[in-house]
Amino acid sequence: MSSAAPYNEEFKPRKRVFIGLLMLACALVLGIAFLLWWVPSVGLGSIHPVLPILFGAVLAGLAILVTAGLSLLILTLVTGKDLFFSEKLRKVVIRYLFPAIIGIGRLFGIDRDTLQQSFIALNNQLVRARKIRVPTSRALILLPHCIQLFDCAIKITGDVDKCIRCGECDIRDLAELARKRGIKIAVATGGTLARKIIVEKKPRFILAVACERDLTSGIRDSYPLPVIGILNRRPNGPCFNTHIILKEVEAALDEHIVAGS
Ligand code: SF4
Repeated sequence: MSSAAPYNEEFKPRKRVFIGLLMLACALVLGIAFLLWWVPSVGLGSIHPVLPILFGAVLAGLAILVTAGLSLLILTLVTGKDLFFSEKLRKVVIRYLFPAIIGIGRLFGIDRDTLQQSFIALNNQLVRARKIRVPTSRALILLPHCIQLFDCAIKITGDVDKCIRCGECDIRDLAELARKRGIKIAVATGGTLARKIIVEKKPRFILAVACERDLTSGIRDSYPLPVIGILNRRPNGPCFNTHIILKEVEAALDEHIVAGS
């Protein structure tokens, strides 16, 4: 239950990992751009002396674009301010640069969970930086099925309010929180159902609880919808009787939800 679940150091967001990888990516982009220019420019120069300059200008333009995007991400993380002036740029970063950074991290032997925790922390900061506030009726709390007690006989997928609040799992507190605040709440057994719920409920803000893998794919799939991801706690191993820290959920709701419809 949430009150009994200790805060687990293992789940502390690791933005520093991502910032380090972003800086590394900047250096790699510039290094590769230079090599791409330097190696063929010798041959191009023998065809026409202007060709290496033209080729270099194109490569420099591309390298500047990529490093500018990465630098904006670093600055957003460091300052906590929304520095993405264009939604298209944010899209490029979330859809394409993040996976590339995760690939670089894997090359350097950083484990997938750490990278995904970093991604989730970074995404949350980007959402926070936008200072999004939506009415309760347009918010959705999305939960994984593993939060429900494995032995509970009640089927709550489809309607969390069927929970009789026995308190054997964290669904009780979450269902009560959602009822008191008038926020929609749903349990998804997988990505397909999660997408269906989102299409049906049409939220403008999602607070999602899940493991690293599901949150990472959910955040990317849901873009451009703003999603705050909160990691579940797994004292019994993955996908089995997992827990949440209710205060984390409440704090995220306080930050992004305003009363009213
Ligand atoms: S709190 Fe609700 S979902 Fe959890 S075990 Fe009790 S009745 Fe089942």
